[in-house]
Amino acid sequence: SATLYVVATPIGNAGDISLRALHTLSIVDAVACEDTRNTGHLLTRYGLSKKLIAAHQHNEREVAETLIRRLQAGERIALVSDAGTPAVSDPGARIVDAVRNAGLRVAPLPGASAAVAALSASGLLNDQFYFVGFLPAKAKQRETFLFKLKSVTATMVFYEAPHRIVETVEALTSTFEATRHVVFARELTKMFEEIHRCTLAEANAWINAEANRQKGEFVVLLEGAPAAGDQDEIEAERILKILLQECS
Ligand code: SAM
Repeated sequence: SATLYVVATPIGNAGDISLRALHTLSIVDAVACEDTRNTGHLLTRYGLSKKLIAAHQHNEREVAETLIRRLQAGERIALVSDAGTPAVSDPGARIVDAVRNAGLRVAPLPGASAAVAALSASGLLNDQFYFVGFLPAKAKQRETFLFKLKSVTATMVFYEAPHRIVETVEALTSTFEATRHVVFARELTKMFEEIHRCTLAEANAWINAEANRQKGEFVVLLEGAPAAGDQDEIEAERILKILLQECS
């Protein structure tokens, strides 16, 4: 029946697509996508050819109307982005919102997400995580934005484009405590995949050690601030130490 399927696609390795996603892409009447060339290539890899509808951040509203009309006529439509899960630091949320508001069915087809892939292989304890996504591009705004994150206790997840990674690492090291752990997950699922964990004190040196390290796509994970309970304990220990010193 008429449904908008929100389909996750691979973030690098073409094998990372679900059987259900392939089946759905093969039965839909059209695929709404961020970039028709990229999605055309992807579908060709799986032996599929479909009507493609360009749905990028500048035309989401108009496309939503087109998709709603098609869905009302009983069509099934897939929504994909260039990589990973649509609507997560990618276009799609406005379309999904409009389609849902029109009372039509939206079904997610889960799959690759750079954030979750990075978290899963980081070794950080991620009972809670805070998805930040892309930081503001301008230095001043980035600084203010990061300052507000200082007391977040959950692991923070940042997305970064290669041309800004060095600046971002500098901004992180000048805002957060040097003892916090950071994980760089670069080129996940691709040939030059690299996952490096260090403290913020070591981060600038690591990123600058090799020019190749600054290439590709990054997820940066940052350990959160100590939880309030932990902070009380740290403070209690500090006071106990002072008292013990004074007693001796
Ligand atoms: N919707 C995607 C998802 O589900 O993760 C994210 C798209 S967003 C426009 C692109 C950003 O995701 C990149 O700048 C990078 O931060 C991250 N990313 C995507 N693919 C990646 C990969 N293979 N390795 C590391 N980071 C990746």
